[in-house]
Amino acid sequence: MPIELPPAFAFSQTSLQDFADCPRRFQLRYLLAQSYPSPLAEPLADLERSLARGERFHRLMERYWRGIQPAEPVDPLIADLWATFRANPPADVPQAFRRPEFSLSVKPAWARGARLTAKYDLLAYDLDGEALIIDWKTSERPSRAALERRLQTVLYPLLLVEASPRLFGAPLPPERVRLLYWFGESDGATELFAYNSARYVADQERVGALLARLRALEVDEFPLTADLRHCRHCQYRALCEREEAASTFEVDDPDAFPDLEELREVIAAAAAQDDFVL
Ligand code: SF4
Repeated sequence: MPIELPPAFAFSQTSLQDFADCPRRFQLRYLLAQSYPSPLAEPLADLERSLARGERFHRLMERYWRGIQPAEPVDPLIADLWATFRANPPADVPQAFRRPEFSLSVKPAWARGARLTAKYDLLAYDLDGEALIIDWKTSERPSRAALERRLQTVLYPLLLVEASPRLFGAPLPPERVRLLYWFGESDGATELFAYNSARYVADQERVGALLARLRALEVDEFPLTADLRHCRHCQYRALCEREEAASTFEVDDPDAFPDLEELREVIAAAAAQDDFVL
């Protein structure tokens, strides 16, 4: 029997990344809405603190880019991140339009009926059509190669180009889109990904192939990942009998550690379920 997605389901970078990392996790999380009480990482206090820092810094950035200066002194939990931002803000941010916490969703023809969604920490663009997507990171900085592989790096510029006719009134050439990651825990270091037409086509194919793979699966056919690194911070470890893969919160491999924003998204979705344990 073919799978059935929940009504109005929209694929985000997190859900697509879940499927790419482990089809079983996608099935448990989105098709079965399965709660399971393995901690994402221990000690919980460290994880909770990091999530709280990320959440509060994102709220501060949202207000800042709306033109609201934070009252000094700022929240002590994120004072260091704020100081880093003040000392090393991202350069060359387009000025005409700056939209923090901007969401869009599209149903491109190549996705064959699937809805795709992205939520940008900051979308800035000028009237000449230069667009910059900024993503604030408060987790450990992964390698550029790992960032390049992440579906966030694929989906964010891809969906902006797809949405551009409605958003800007005219198609935005991929060459005018840039994606910038800003790392608060690394002195405001950045990684910039300039988009282009070849990458746009390749990204359509990559996401289209992922969606096709998912649609081709039968309901009882979602394999567990063969890469145990994905199990280390997965709340389904006990269910999958992969408890031995559990890891502490100490980040010994930033390339394998899940993005804090993705963790927040997972936790927020699960918070609606009474029996979820962080
Ligand atoms: S514990 Fe491992 S195999 Fe099980 S859902 Fe999580 S990532 Fe997949």
